[in-house]
Amino acid sequence: MSKEENLECSFCGRKKAETDMLIAGMDAHICDKCIEQAHGIVQEEISDAKSSSLSEDLILKKPIEIKEFLDQYIIGQLETKRAMSVAVYNHYKRLLQTKEDKDDVEIEKSNIVLVGETGTGKTLVAKTIARMLNVPFAIVDATVLTQAGYVGEDVESILSKLLQAADYDVEKAQRGIIFIDEIDKIARKGDNPSITRDVSGEGVQQALLKLLEGTVVNVAPKGGRKHPDQKFIEVDTKEILFIAGGAFSGIERFISKRLNMQAVGFGASLDDDKVDEENLLQYIIPSDLKAFGLIPEIIGRLPVLSYMNPLDAETLRAILTEPKNSIIKQYAKLFGMDDITFSIDEEALNYIVDKAVEYKLGARGLRSLCEAIFTDAMFDLPSSNEKEFKVTREYADAKLSNSTLKKLKAAS
Ligand code: ADP
Repeated sequence: MSKEENLECSFCGRKKAETDMLIAGMDAHICDKCIEQAHGIVQEEISDAKSSSLSEDLILKKPIEIKEFLDQYIIGQLETKRAMSVAVYNHYKRLLQTKEDKDDVEIEKSNIVLVGETGTGKTLVAKTIARMLNVPFAIVDATVLTQAGYVGEDVESILSKLLQAADYDVEKAQRGIIFIDEIDKIARKGDNPSITRDVSGEGVQQALLKLLEGTVVNVAPKGGRKHPDQKFIEVDTKEILFIAGGAFSGIERFISKRLNMQAVGFGASLDDDKVDEENLLQYIIPSDLKAFGLIPEIIGRLPVLSYMNPLDAETLRAILTEPKNSIIKQYAKLFGMDDITFSIDEEALNYIVDKAVEYKLGARGLRSLCEAIFTDAMFDLPSSNEKEFKVTREYADAKLSNSTLKKLKAAS
C-alpha cells in the first residue's frame, strides 16, 4: 500500500479511500464527512447562542422591578406605571413563546393607549421603557399621517423611523417600541359614522389598524447605509410594541355622561364611591374612546388603557429635583464640569414651581424657566474665577422678567 493510501481522517479514522476528500492540516487530517458534521455543530451552537442571548435580553425584569425602574425617572403616575409594567412584561413573555407553545394558547399583543394632557409624561413613560429594555424606539406623530394616496406621510413611514432607530437592523426593529403621539387627532369627527369618507381620520385609523395587528410591510430604507441598493426592506410588525398617546381633550364629557347614566341606572355601582369630578380621566374605559371617535377595531388593538394625572405643584416640584436625570441634577452636572459648585435653595425651587403653575407652563416649562434663570451664569461663570453658584429666590426673580414669562407662556 502506498504511503498516500495509508492516510486516514484523524477524527473518525476513515481511510482516504473511504472518503471523498481528506484535507491535511499541520499533523492531522480531516475528511469531508467530519467537516460537514463539525460545521453542523458550529451552526447549531451559534444559533443556540443567538437564541439564548435573545432570551437573555428579554429575561425580563418582573413587573415590580419594571415599575421601580420607571420610578427613577417618572414622578407619580402610579396607575400608568403599574399598567405599563404589566403590559411590557406580558409583551415580552409573548415574544418568548415558542411555536409549540403558541399552538396551545397564543398570547396576544398588549399595545397600550395612554390618555392625558400634554406634558404629563406620556412620551417619557414610553421612552423610559424602551431605555430599560434597550430596544429601538421611535416617536411618530399621528397628525402627519394620511391614508395612502393623499398628501402627507403614509402610515408605513412609521416603520422607517423605527428602522432608522435600529440602525437598519431589521431583527432589532421588529422587537422595538413605537410611540404614536396625538392618536386622538385621528379620531372620527362626531360620533356618527359619516357617509362621506373622512380622509384624515377614519382612513388613517384603518391603515394603522393593520400595523397594530401585525403585518409585513415593505419599507423604503431611506438611505440606510446597510442596504444602499435595496428598494424595500420587509418589516414584520407582529412583535413591535405600540404605545399610543393623546390628550383626548373633551373626553371628560363622555366619561361624565356615562358615569351619570350609570348612577341613575339599575345596579348603580358608584353609590359608595364619590366621583372625583376634578379628575374624571381616572374612570376612563375603552367605550369612552369610542365615543370620542376611535374605531372599535383600533380600540381592540390597544387593549391596555391607562391615564395620566394632571401635574400639580407638588409633582412639578418633585420633577425638578427627584428623577435620576432631573433638570436640577443636569444643571449641577453642567456647572460641575467647570468645577463650579451649583446649589439652589428651597425657596428658589418653589418660586420656579409657582411660576410654572401661574403661567400654566407644565413640566416642559420648568426647563424653559431654568434656562431663563441660569443662562447668564452659564455664559459668564466658565470664564470667571467663581467656584460657586448659589441660586436664591431673589436671584431667580431678578433673572425672570415679566416679558420672559410672557414669551414662555406664548410658546407653551
Ligand atoms: P407628553 O408626552 O404627555 O406630552 P412628555 O413625556 O413629553 O409629555 O413630558 C414632557 C417633559 O416633562 C418630559 O420630558 C419630562 O421632563 C417632564 N415630565 C412630565 N411628566 C413627568 C413626570 N411624571 N415625571 C418626571 N418628568 C416629567
